[in-house]
Amino acid sequence: MSKRLPSERLRLLVTLGFVVLPATALIGFSVLHLRSIQRDRAIEAAIQRDFQHMMAISEKRITHRMYEMVEDVRPGVKCPLKADAAESIEEIVNTKPFVAHVFSWTKGGEIIVRSRAKNLSPVEAQNEGEKLATMITGWFDIEGAAFDGKLRKMESKGESPYFSYSNIVMRNGKSMYEPIIFFPIQGVTNRPTLGGIAFDPEYLQNDFLPDILNSLMAENAADTKDNHSHAAMMIHLPKDPPIAQSSEWDGGTPEMERKLEAGLPGLMLAMKFRGTTVEAIGQRFLRTSFLVLGGLSLLLAAGMILTYRGVQKEVELAKIKSDFVSNVSHELRTPLALIRLYAETLELGRVPNPSKQHEYYCTIRKESERLTALINNILDFSRIEAGRKEYDFRETNLTELVQTTLDSYRYQIEQQGFKFEEQIDNDIPAVVVDREAIARSLLNLVNNAIKYSTADRYLGINLLRTNGSVKLEVVDHGIGIPREEQSKIFEKFYRVCDPLVHNTKGSGLGLCLVRHIAHAHGGDVAVESTPGKGSKFTLVLPIAGRSGSPSPELESGAEKGVGVAS
Ligand code: ADP
Repeated sequence: MSKRLPSERLRLLVTLGFVVLPATALIGFSVLHLRSIQRDRAIEAAIQRDFQHMMAISEKRITHRMYEMVEDVRPGVKCPLKADAAESIEEIVNTKPFVAHVFSWTKGGEIIVRSRAKNLSPVEAQNEGEKLATMITGWFDIEGAAFDGKLRKMESKGESPYFSYSNIVMRNGKSMYEPIIFFPIQGVTNRPTLGGIAFDPEYLQNDFLPDILNSLMAENAADTKDNHSHAAMMIHLPKDPPIAQSSEWDGGTPEMERKLEAGLPGLMLAMKFRGTTVEAIGQRFLRTSFLVLGGLSLLLAAGMILTYRGVQKEVELAKIKSDFVSNVSHELRTPLALIRLYAETLELGRVPNPSKQHEYYCTIRKESERLTALINNILDFSRIEAGRKEYDFRETNLTELVQTTLDSYRYQIEQQGFKFEEQIDNDIPAVVVDREAIARSLLNLVNNAIKYSTADRYLGINLLRTNGSVKLEVVDHGIGIPREEQSKIFEKFYRVCDPLVHNTKGSGLGLCLVRHIAHAHGGDVAVESTPGKGSKFTLVLPIAGRSGSPSPELESGAEKGVGVAS
């Protein structure tokens, strides 16, 4: 096969370069980008930012809900100097399950405390309330007035006039967190007076906080729509186990924590993913991205290789076609020039010698036969390519066909110094074939045997009967065909890349036609060859004739070579 021109190779490389360079740059850029994400732990940072945002919202919500509960009871907390103050406070304690103690205090006056905690006897609750009262009076007698002023100022500015404080109380032998929220008592302006409620620790821990944490997490899940990584929250005292948690919390170390201030002072809000960690999510993202990128790169590389091969094939085909055109033109020009020269010489009467004249006529006939053979090959090939080749199948005596075809060549073959041997079995049956096509196949094979023989000039023709088929063998002792080329020589335009072949005229169509013809007859053609020793081409024709029409694939000339190596 001829080599591609450097300019064609360059064009191919430039074309591929236009795809390869941007694709490689894109992949390189993506790898660098992923590496920078890995180095800066960008995924982890983004998730942590999300967590921070989520926890800030959660704190606001919790505080807001607690303030709503306080607002609910605040109007019922009256100045202790009012006659119905104790009664009103008692009603709150009896009707609001979230309350453990309610109190009202005024400077220089008294303090009213009413208590009723879940799981505490009235006496225990009262004891706890009295402790609280002692603490508050001790504290407010000193700071109460200033405190009241400050809270009222906040209220006048439209802010929530609440101050939170936390206490630890005992329940069933366990210490529990109890938040207390103070507020200025409404409707009193002439003296400092403060009220407040202590939330029931068990209500807070078992009802309020789990509910609100779960609803926060449910909202978050609906927002993120990420089913793989469920976030979970819990609330705890620093270094202590959770006092409340969302249902997704599965233990372990929190990823992020936030110190709660308003509402639940002293507590920490903590967040993490259920069943995984932020680091694992970051690693999973990077792993998936690298895998996808690797997969894409492989696909791209495969695509490049396929494109390269495709374009390479196209370029080779274009080259083969142009070689074919120049080969055919050359093949046409040489005999035409000879015919013209000899005919002119004869016409001018410049060859008086009759034997010389005979030689000239002979050359003109031979050259015109060569031209006819070539043109027939080309016409047949173009018919096959266009799917228009038609065969005229008739019962034929193959012995007679082979002998008649060879008869017109026998003298010529021997003239060229060939030892010619013919072996024809006696029992060759009549076979249904296209006479002209089989004769053309035989001539192509014989011509090749002559063309590709050098010193050892031998041509053997064997017509043999085997099981169910007739074999027509054409044997030479010529240059032979390398093993790796044997399957390719039946492809259209293919010529072996060998200086001996290139110095011989040819179009690369002969064997392609022989194979088409063989297939059209339901048979095949095979080659056995040893370089330097010679070749044997065998055309196998089934005695039963072809079974069915040749396939359109064969007709359109799309199949591959079927060389059988020796
Ligand atoms: P061409 O017109 O080139 O002879 P063919 O299709 O008849 O085209 O043959 C294809 C190629 O197969 C040839 O170019 C030659 O390289 C190789 N070939 C065919 N027949 C022989 C043979 N008898 N000995 C050696 N090589 C052969």
